[in-house]
Amino acid sequence: MELNLSFVFVFVSLSFFSFLHSAFARGGLQSYHTFVSPEVLENGTYNGHTRRLFLKDQSRRSVDVAKGYMTNSDLEAAVKAFGKRCSNISRIYSIGRSVNGVPLWVIEISDKPGVEEAEPAFKYIGNVHGDEPVGRELLMLLANWICDNYLKDPLATLIVESTHLHILPTMNPDGFSLRQRGNANNVDLNRNFPDQFFSMNNDAFAREPETRAIMEWSSQIHFTASASLHGGALVANYPWDGTQDKRREYNACPDDETFRFLASVYSRSHYNMSLSSDYPGGITNGALWYPIYGGMQDWNYIHGGCFELTLEISDDKWPPANELTTLWKYNRMSMLNLVLSLVQTGIHGRIFSSDSGGPLPGFITIKGINYTVKTSRIFADYHRMLTPGGRYKVMATVPGYGSKTTNVWLEEAAMTVDFVLDPEATPKGNLLRSACECNCGSLSRRIKYNLSKQRQLGPKRPVAL
Ligand SMILES: [Zn+2]
Repeated sequence: MELNLSFVFVFVSLSFFSFLHSAFARGGLQSYHTFVSPEVLENGTYNGHTRRLFLKDQSRRSVDVAKGYMTNSDLEAAVKAFGKRCSNISRIYSIGRSVNGVPLWVIEISDKPGVEEAEPAFKYIGNVHGDEPVGRELLMLLANWICDNYLKDPLATLIVESTHLHILPTMNPDGFSLRQRGNANNVDLNRNFPDQFFSMNNDAFAREPETRAIMEWSSQIHFTASASLHGGALVANYPWDGTQDKRREYNACPDDETFRFLASVYSRSHYNMSLSSDYPGGITNGALWYPIYGGMQDWNYIHGGCFELTLEISDDKWPPANELTTLWKYNRMSMLNLVLSLVQTGIHGRIFSSDSGGPLPGFITIKGINYTVKTSRIFADYHRMLTPGGRYKVMATVPGYGSKTTNVWLEEAAMTVDFVLDPEATPKGNLLRSACECNCGSLSRRIKYNLSKQRQLGPKRPVAL
């Protein structure tokens, strides 16, 4: 399904870009050069790029910065109305409550919402910082756009039929109503997760309820990738976010190349993010920009098995509400393409047992990348995000079974690679390790099938470029 639609997808993407560039005169480029003094920034380590974390026009605070934005009650009503209007492709659920007891509502969009399938799941989280409300508005626009265009637009249809998209419009409703960055306890939620370098957030009982809700959610749903939406700059930020010695310098995670690809999918699909003069290509490594500790994206990659980006989608934290429609148009293709990268790119498949023929939950590793992707528990499906245009040695391992490795030449389109593993020994002790360390049977056929499909569709372009 995704292969058949990929050509249409690229075509629609390109058409949309030409439309945007001609239709919208407002650009963010001039504001990239508006520097603010370092003392107004959120931590003392800032000494580099532009980052506008506070209002450029402070007088708007005394008026009502949220004029025209949804209140928390409005948002709750909008989520519930969406659930009724689009009940055929969605379900509404809460992952917990904020400090002040506001439910953290999630919209799941899928043709089988609430049902586990052998498909990748993606999550969008908005309003992590209470005073960065653009994301919560755009996420509701995204949900409604997908609902309105399902079975009419190939991108909307592909998302609904091939993924499970979970949308949490606000992680920090209390901060929003208080017009502040932190939650009701004035804790910065993007510094509240367990950190790989420092132990300050290791006490589970001291963790904020919003943070706990995200961690519990991530343990229940196997997300392949995700993104949180912020404001105050225009750039796609990727791990690592911190460094061992707290120095501000590039700190590459094992999947640095893949993260740069995913961040570029967002920035290059955006109206002007990739044109930034401050951030080459509109992307940045977190630790190079400014190190943070206890952030959500590093925790997702390390503990959630999830490739998360931190997206800064608006120079102004509180742009006038009448600019939200334009911001939605600037970000729409990016938001869609990032989700679609889960099915348009990477290596996907399942692990099966040769004795029972059933799914075999296990692990997928890529030679040269120190990172393990787990399969799902029920279907043993895996979704390994990787940069297109590379040769990868993929290994499937399951305790008690012989591992298998196969070489894959990954082009622009996604590939399917299934593994069938043999038990290491029978109860009688006869070794059954397979001599086949490469493509076997149906696996070879599926790879060949995908390659022939790619040839039919002609040369592939990277997603959304
Ligand atoms: Zn933020």
